[in-house]
Amino acid sequence: MKPQWPVNRTDAEWRKRLTPQQHAVMRRFGTEPAGSCALNHETRPGTFLCAGCDQPLFTATAKYESHTGWPSFYQPVAGSVGHKKHPVYGDLEVEVHCRQCGSHLGHVFPDGPPPTGQRYCINGVALHFVPA
Ligand code: FE
Repeated sequence: MKPQWPVNRTDAEWRKRLTPQQHAVMRRFGTEPAGSCALNHETRPGTFLCAGCDQPLFTATAKYESHTGWPSFYQPVAGSVGHKKHPVYGDLEVEVHCRQCGSHLGHVFPDGPPPTGQRYCINGVALHFVPA
């Protein structure tokens, strides 16, 4: 079978790398409880990497407080994420995943702040923060 992503891991490898909560979110399309992740309150300069493959996904400059309980960004690092439209809601709810390892990250909604108007609503457990 042709590998689907630049970084492919077996489920056993994923379970070794990820915590059970990360696995449920990133490999099974789960959602962490709102307000549960400490990264909600992260305000230092730096970069948020994929917890599944270490690819840079978001910079701290694109982070903002959406008051949803999930880390929110107005844009990803160029080319780092893939988008999949919701089968019913279309552009109103788009699934977001890491383009390098395919892991589920969260969703993007068209109600974000300038300059993009996008709200990337991301599960904090899918991210590793590296301070600048
Ligand atoms: Fe990844």
